[in-house]
Order: sequence, then C-alpha cells, then structure tokens
Amino acid sequence: MRILILSDIHANLEALEACLAAAPAYDRVFNLGDIVGYGANPNEVTTRSRELGSVFVRGNHDKACSGLTNLDDFNPVAALAAMWTRATLKQDHLSFLRELPQGPIEPMDHLLCVHGSPRHEDEYILHPRDAYEVLAHAEAPLPFFGHTHVQGAYWVDDSRETEGVIEPRYASPKGVQSMSFPLEKTARYLVNPGSIGQPRDGDPRAAFASYDTKENVVTFHRVPYDIKTAQKKIIASRLPERLATRLEEGR
Ligand code: ZN
Repeated sequence: MRILILSDIHANLEALEACLAAAPAYDRVFNLGDIVGYGANPNEVTTRSRELGSVFVRGNHDKACSGLTNLDDFNPVAALAAMWTRATLKQDHLSFLRELPQGPIEPMDHLLCVHGSPRHEDEYILHPRDAYEVLAHAEAPLPFFGHTHVQGAYWVDDSRETEGVIEPRYASPKGVQSMSFPLEKTARYLVNPGSIGQPRDGDPRAAFASYDTKENVVTFHRVPYDIKTAQKKIIASRLPERLATRLEEGR
C-alpha cells in the first residue's frame, strides 16, 4: 500500500494544492493534524482534507481553532490567528475539527499516527534525545509525527546500541525534489513528513512524505508553491503580518 503522509497544512491552500499535484500515486492518506491555524484558507483546506480522507489525528491548532482548548499556551500571533480562524470557519468544519480523534492511533499494523509524540499529542520531538526516549519505549515500529514542522526521521536499531537522524538535505533546494530512504527491518523509526503550510526547517518549499508498505521505503518530498499569493491572502485577511513573512523564510 502506498500512503501519502500530510501534516501541518495550516490553512495554506496554495501549498496543499501544489503538494497534491506533485504527489506520487497513493492508496491512502494519513493526515497528522494542524489542518488549520495561521493561513488564510481554513474552510477550503478543511474541505480538501475531508475529501482526501482517510486517517486523521487532531493537532493543537485544530483543538484551539475549534474551541476545544483555550489559547493560554499560544503566543500572541498564534492566538490571534486561532481567534480569526474560529470566527471564519463554517459550523460544519468546526464540528469536524472538534471531533478529530486524539493521537496516537494505529490505522494499520505496525504504523502509528500522532500529532506531537506517541507519549502525548502536544509534545514536541525537537531533539534527538527526545526521539530516542520515545523510540526506546515505542510499541509500534513506525510512528509518523508532525508538530515541529521539520522534515526528517530518527531511528534506533533493535539492539538500542546505534541511533541516528535522517535529514533530507537537498544540495540545491529548487523545484520539486524528493529523497527516498529504505527502512531497515532491524530498526525503529520516527518519521516526520514536515509541514505543508508553514515549514520551519529553513526550506520554504512545502513538505510531505510518502510511504510504501510493501517496499518499506519512506520518501520525503519538497514542492515549491505560490508563496506570494498565500502571503497576500494573509495580509488581506488582517492576520498578523509575521505569518506571511515567515513563509518565504521557511522559519
Ligand atoms: Zn503545526
């Protein structure tokens, strides 16, 4: 089975459409959450995500924007965006977001979907030591996670003696690019597809991943999109300007 793994779309319609146009053929979609928040097209992106299906976990922005949680943990820019998103979303989409399942969920044998971490849906796995701790206790060999907006993977071999980081670093980050990594049967991995709508790993191109269960290969993808249009919409919607400028920085 070929799985498309999408995460942190953050209401960026231009980025989502560019990724879907560039995506390889797939049988199923795993959506790791933060469908909305930050970007100017929460309704359009939620509609598109619902059409794509099929496996979802909720992100912290999905919870905040649909009124499930308050905004205490959000910085002022994120809080303003969440309030705007809540006021803009159609009732039907608000209900959909509110009912998204909490991770981790196991959609198939050996695979896990979480927004933050298998330990807690809102935990950030930002450092290798966080990843190794999680991997040491992980039941499922292959969790997919988002939340950090950084594309890549961590791994630990079954003896727990060797560990490492997979960072897809593209020599000249231009155009549509992808990098494939065959997974070893004797190791466990934590895989982050990166963020479609607001990458923070220094590469402004939209990020996603695909996974072929038969070949046991993860492929990371980067796709350029119309950043200028996404920025103009953010400004025209009177969302905080920083949400527009950071898109071209990929930070
Ligand atoms: Zn996010």
